[in-house]
Amino acid sequence: MPVAPDRPRYRFDVTADPATHRLHVRQAIALADPVRLQTGEIVFNVPTNGMTGVFALEAVRLALSPLQTEAADLLQPAAVLLEDSTLRVRLPTAATRAAILTVCLDYAVHLPPAGHEGISAIHALGWSELGMIAGYWYPVLAPYVAAATRGGGRWLITPYHPVGDPIVYETADYEVTVRAPTSHQVIAAGLTDAQQGVWRFRLDRARGFAFAVSDRLMASQADVQGISVRVYHLPEHDVAAQAALRGVQEALPLFVQAYGPYPYAELLIVEAVQFGGMEYSALMTFSRDWFAAYQPPSSDAGFGADLLVRFVVHELGHQWWYGVVGNDQAHEPWLDEGLARYGEVFYYETLHPAHLAWWEAPSRDMPTLPINQPIYHFSDTTTYVQAAYVSSTRFWLDVRRLMGPAAFTGFVQTYRERYQDRLAHEAEVLALLRDRLGPALDRLLSVYFR
Ligand SMILES: [Zn+2]
Repeated sequence: MPVAPDRPRYRFDVTADPATHRLHVRQAIALADPVRLQTGEIVFNVPTNGMTGVFALEAVRLALSPLQTEAADLLQPAAVLLEDSTLRVRLPTAATRAAILTVCLDYAVHLPPAGHEGISAIHALGWSELGMIAGYWYPVLAPYVAAATRGGGRWLITPYHPVGDPIVYETADYEVTVRAPTSHQVIAAGLTDAQQGVWRFRLDRARGFAFAVSDRLMASQADVQGISVRVYHLPEHDVAAQAALRGVQEALPLFVQAYGPYPYAELLIVEAVQFGGMEYSALMTFSRDWFAAYQPPSSDAGFGADLLVRFVVHELGHQWWYGVVGNDQAHEPWLDEGLARYGEVFYYETLHPAHLAWWEAPSRDMPTLPINQPIYHFSDTTTYVQAAYVSSTRFWLDVRRLMGPAAFTGFVQTYRERYQDRLAHEAEVLALLRDRLGPALDRLLSVYFR
């Protein structure tokens, strides 16, 4: 795979202190992108600064060279504006013409207690007796929509909002070092070395990089089509962990065949105190409540009618829709959520058709709402789910009905190929659908779009 010269490279040195629930972070991001540099600023989306008392910025410095975190003397202080969840780093003139620029951020993250409040950035960051979960923990470089695109020539800002995922990730390469007490393990994808409490990770072509720090969780492992799948769970939740592994064993080959290759060498599943499930690149977290509630079925045919298994399938789908193909999760959340939830239907109808009614029961009577709504339109998780998840799945199922299953699979493959490692925008997806459906698309738009 050729390295895209403009793919951002993140490097992190993190010191994690589980006793004080605090991360201290030195973050360096190297960017070779004349379009963004010429704007005279570099913009980051900082969801942690949307929460009270979580993010404390200490220093921002620049270097006109690749990663230089250690060579602090080569870095110059930069002028910044941090307002709500948007960080703007002003560039001196020399930086706007640089071939490569490194922005180095020093900051502390005070993790809040883990919450159950709903689909929110808060549930992607927190501490509990299981350990620390760092999901939305770092300033994410904002994508820049080039002027040639409709509505282009602007930074893609995703202000913090308490409902949904107020973030957009472009594909980037990650190099992460986490220092933690030797009593704890650091759980993340791409481990290259672990010695005396210093854990090193490398994950290329990723969207979000997440990690957990725990002294309570143990690992159960399975190999699925050459992918190392590990579930990190409480020892007493071993049966649930086996069910999660089986969910991956069943769904992963199905998705590989329908969508394309799984993008990483491994997949981690982490038990956490949180609401529901959450996706990151090669890592997914799930509520301890689902692990605790898991009951093995009385017969093998009963497997699958369970929330942990169902949402393992959902978050696995995100490895393609969010992961391989990215999108603006704040303004166009229906793109990834609708296809991830479509994957649930696809899984049940293909492998466990007897459970389709169980799957559909909680949403059967929900009204269909316009799906093309940003997270900012919603003040509660329930209505957000009805629009971006439930109604959007209905949209994709109607698309499949109109195209026929074989043509729909072809469409999904084309969508994946065309937008692999990129951000797909709603207008482009609709243009692709217009190619396949013609005027029939208008009928769907009148039902599902505002
Ligand atoms: Zn989802």
